[in-house]
Amino acid sequence: MTDQHSKNKRGNNTLAVHAGERPDPNTRASAPNIVMSSTFVLDEPVGFSAYDIPDDAPYIYSRWRNPTVQQLEEKLAALENAQACRCFASGMAATSALLFSVLKTGDRLVMSDANYPGTAELARNDLVRMGIDVVTVNFSDLQAVEQAVTPETALVWGETPANPTMRITDISKIAQITHQHGARLAIDSTFATPMATRPITLGADYVIHSLTKYCCGHGDAMGGAVLASDENMRTIETDGQIHVGGVISPFNAWLINRGLATLPLRMKAHQDNAMALAQFLEAHPRVTKVLYPGLPSHPHHDLAKKQMENFSGMLSFQVDNGADMAPQMMSQLQVIHYAVSLGHHRSLICWMDTDDLMASSYRLSGKQLQAYRDFAGDGVYRVSVGLEDPEDLCDDLVRVLG
Ligand SMILES: *Cc1c(COP(=O)(O)O)cnc(C)c1O
Repeated sequence: MTDQHSKNKRGNNTLAVHAGERPDPNTRASAPNIVMSSTFVLDEPVGFSAYDIPDDAPYIYSRWRNPTVQQLEEKLAALENAQACRCFASGMAATSALLFSVLKTGDRLVMSDANYPGTAELARNDLVRMGIDVVTVNFSDLQAVEQAVTPETALVWGETPANPTMRITDISKIAQITHQHGARLAIDSTFATPMATRPITLGADYVIHSLTKYCCGHGDAMGGAVLASDENMRTIETDGQIHVGGVISPFNAWLINRGLATLPLRMKAHQDNAMALAQFLEAHPRVTKVLYPGLPSHPHHDLAKKQMENFSGMLSFQVDNGADMAPQMMSQLQVIHYAVSLGHHRSLICWMDTDDLMASSYRLSGKQLQAYRDFAGDGVYRVSVGLEDPEDLCDDLVRVLG
């Protein structure tokens, strides 16, 4: 596996608690302060251009850099094994900052054909409008990826596990293909978290997280992050962060930093609960398919075992006439909330309809649509398995499934 215990690097539990943090030099407070100030008092004149900020500049303005946000960035970089991290107001703000600072008219973007719908629509609508050649392929079909990556390709974008099919992308193999053609690889690792997979160690150039999900962990703050080498981060910092400007509130950064302290513990519990629920659902007579990377029945289970140190807490399942069951899920579940989003301590469930997603977000046909349907059928219930007692989660679903 990876090198989390290499000589001069502390373990994940320690990093999750301490990285980026130090006692406040003025008060000796042990817990981090929240610095909400938008501006900072200067003792020498500064320039106003994003391109002229020296590496050792003091804090100047919070859209450029803020001490509370910086603590979160240092912690995430330590957990991901990345040189640099920048945080944003949401996962989509992080995604936009990366896409809009790296791509230019005429470039090709090769993107996984099923992923987070917001990212899928941003690429297919906004990027295409700006003259970017967006090609979407099934990232489980390495030959298709190989054919799609041309010399014009600037960026390859994968997501693993992918929403909502839980398909797993082989990051090292895709990184090889990407780099052979001089492009860069971005991996949305929101479902995996740094506890499961560290894409940079596997060859990716950028990692994206919606911090709103597992990293925050409590469903009460939105945020996003991009992680990369110092060199790759430069244009994301100037053009994506400072110019596009979707920076995170220091208060949200503080909440997410606090959430991260328990990420290693929470991910273990999410995985255990998801495994228990997956096994229960797989044995249930009304359930026709369960998609959980930790189950031997998952088509990418071997790859998941190789690439993930934790199978995470996300699973999808199919039932006959699934769409018709949604009103009962909404009215009869007592523990699990029927809601979008994921990664919270509370369990969440929602119906993801294949026809709807195809019409609005993925627009697949032929072989690619068939490959999607092989996983998701007419649709799936996606469950973000929370930290409740697994018996209570199973009992809750029995209220609807019988
Ligand atoms: C939620 C999510 C996003 C978008 O994040 P927001 O914080 O909602 O903007 C991006 N990618 C994945 C995989 C997500 O689950």
